[in-house]
This record gives sequence, C-alpha cells and structure tokens, in this order.
Amino acid sequence: MNYEILKEINLCDRCFGRLWGKIFRATNLERGKALKLSKIIELEIKEKENKISDEEKEILEILKNNYNLDENNCIWCKGIFKEEKIKTLLDKTLKLLKDYEFDTFLIGTHIPDEIKELEQNLSEKFPYMESIKQEFGREFGKVLAKTINKKPNREKPDIVIHINPYDESIILQINPLFIKGRYRKLIRGIPQTRWLCGYCKGKGCKYCNYTGKKYLTSVEQIIGEPILKATGGEDYRFHGAGREDIDVRMLGDGRPFVLEIKNPKKRKIDLKELEKIISQDGRVEVLNLEFGERKDKVIFKNTPHKKTYKAIVKSENITEEDLKKLEENLTNRIIYQKTPKRVLHRRADIERKRKVYKVKANKLDDNHFEMTIYCDGGLYIKELISGDNGRTRPSVSSILKKPAYCKWLDVLKVHDKNGEDYGSNE
Ligand SMILES: [Zn+2]
Ligand SMILES: [Zn+2]
Repeated sequence: MNYEILKEINLCDRCFGRLWGKIFRATNLERGKALKLSKIIELEIKEKENKISDEEKEILEILKNNYNLDENNCIWCKGIFKEEKIKTLLDKTLKLLKDYEFDTFLIGTHIPDEIKELEQNLSEKFPYMESIKQEFGREFGKVLAKTINKKPNREKPDIVIHINPYDESIILQINPLFIKGRYRKLIRGIPQTRWLCGYCKGKGCKYCNYTGKKYLTSVEQIIGEPILKATGGEDYRFHGAGREDIDVRMLGDGRPFVLEIKNPKKRKIDLKELEKIISQDGRVEVLNLEFGERKDKVIFKNTPHKKTYKAIVKSENITEEDLKKLEENLTNRIIYQKTPKRVLHRRADIERKRKVYKVKANKLDDNHFEMTIYCDGGLYIKELISGDNGRTRPSVSSILKKPAYCKWLDVLKVHDKNGEDYGSNE
C-alpha cells in the first residue's frame, strides 16, 4: 500500500479509501479509515518495541494527523460530501425540479479542471482508484431518490440533473416526451410539417401577410399544438413515417408518426382525451396515441413502409381492355424511377427501383378511371401515372400508349410490416 502519497497531499479518510475504490464492496470511507487505522496500529507496535525506522516514524506522524481529517481540508473532495453541503445541494435541486413532472432521473456530475488534473495524476499510481464523480453521483442520487421517491435511470431518464458540487451550480436537462400514433388527413391542401415563407424564412413579410408561413397550418401543428398545451412544453417536432404531398389525403387507418415535445412540464397526460381534442379539428384525426421513446424516431425514418394508394386518373377513350392491360402489366412489376422533375430542386437526381405488387383499375367514365395501387414505399405515384417524360419506366402512360395524369390521390394504407391486408405478393 502506498501511504507515501500522504506526504505530498492531505486526503480525508473517504478520499484515501477512494484510491482503492474498485476493490471490495466497502464504502470508500470505511476502506480509508481501515487502511489508515491498520497502518497506525502496525507502526505504533513497532514504535513501542523500538523496531521502527525513521522513515516509518514520519509516516506514523502523518497518519495520526490525517486520521479523521476534516473534509474541508482535503484537497480532493473539499468537503462536498459533508451533510450540510449535501443538504444545500438537495434543496437547490428540489427547487428546480418542482416545476416538472417526471418518474426517472439521472445525476450528471461535473468537476472542476483542477480536480480532473489531480485525478489524472493519482490514477497513474493508483490503478484501482474511483473517480469522485462516480461516488458523488451515486451518493447524491441515493439521497435524492429517497427524498422524492423516484428512481435513477441510466438509459432513459426523464430528467438529467447536471450538478457541479464544488461551485454548487445545477442545470436541469429535461428530456423530450415522445408520443406516437397514426394520423388521417381528411382534406387536401395542408402540408405534413410547418412550412416557412420562402421569402422571409419565417420572420414575416408582405408576401406571407406577416405570418412567416407559406401554409397557415400543417398536420404537425394541428396535432402538435394541443399536445404542447397539455404538456406545458416549449416546442415540438413531428416525425412521420414518410409523407404525402400537400394535395394528397391520408385515409384508411392513417400514417404512423411520433411527436417529440421539448422541455415538457407534464408527462402524465390523458392521451384518449387528446385524441378527441385533436380530431375535433375536422381536417386531421389521430388514432392510437401512446407514449413512445427516442428510438421510435429513428425507426420511423428508416423503415420503408409499403403503401396502398387510390388515384383518380385522367386519360382519354378508356376501354375495359386498357384497364385489364394495366393491371396485368403492373402486377409484381419493377419500376425504374428517376427523381421526378418537380422535386429535382431539393432532391438528388438518382434512379430508384421500386416494386408495384398489385393494381386494380375501375372505369369511371370515358376519360377517368380509379386505380388502387399496392407498392413499395418511396415510389412517386403521380409520376408512375404520367411517366414524367420517360423518367419513370414503365408508367400508366407508356402502357396505355396515351397520356395519363393523376387528378386526385389518397393514401389508403401505410403498411406496418411486409405485405398484408391488401392482396399478397403472389
Ligand atoms: Zn476528501
Ligand atoms: Zn414572408
């Protein structure tokens, strides 16, 4: 055991014990006291029997002075574990926390650079040392958990309490609340997410009537605003499993989404009640609201969902034979699609391969028919119909050998898993 370190610096019993913090399941305080005491006893016996060297005598003196050292005089902890200090920090924390509803928390301990440097030097001599950050986080976490009767949680805490016990600064990190569900968009003409005015980028100008918006509302706002109000949060972000165009409705059992609420004050909100409030809007409805988690955001963004669409197609002199040909030609057909011209200004010009699994077509009149399309996510339907001047191959136009374009489009279903409900991949 290296007692020499005490010649260089003053360490209280707790900090001395921390030098071997990763050895045996005792507290650092117990360990430090035991180490100092056993050495004192060993050396005092030697002294009484006149077997002590001068060097050992020096160590004995230092140990006697150091045993039960006032933690305020300890160069490492500077008294941060003292009862009154913990009490001060606890009161400050409780005051900050009282505005927020939460179940789980995590303590994030921050220490000054000089302490980091000290630990760096010590760890070279003491490989089993524990950082004071760990001990403080653990000890303060225990006291806090008991006081507020809530649990620490390393993976998904509702709140992270960033605390520097040396200068007593405390900052709360309120983790977002995630609410997921499915939405139906019952009318055309509203975008999925907030859309800023292209001229002023949201500041407000004469072109947008000083609203800062290109579209006055969005699915994001119709769903987000009532939830923001219920949670007392600061802002929200909408993450949909893909998106439909502004002029496309989203019907059937809706499209999955997750809403992220920043800095929520309330977390235990009545989701059934919110479903009702949001759906009263009439333009957008929500279904199956439930609490989600951060990873839902990623899953939604990266999972390609198959879709079922209904399109009203305008063409000319449509015959039953045309429609039969269309169904046969598009069933289980790979479509080669270059980025549509209408989105080229914001998307890279690439060619994608997407599959159409099944198509049903019903004649409405000589110039119109209705088409139900079950296909891979990421296929642009308007271009599947028009052909986009040969950029989408094959297309309804190329199969029928006459111009066709999509007059109305609805999403009937966003499929959760591979192929179900609407036909199979036969
Ligand atoms: Zn100490
Ligand atoms: Zn503007």
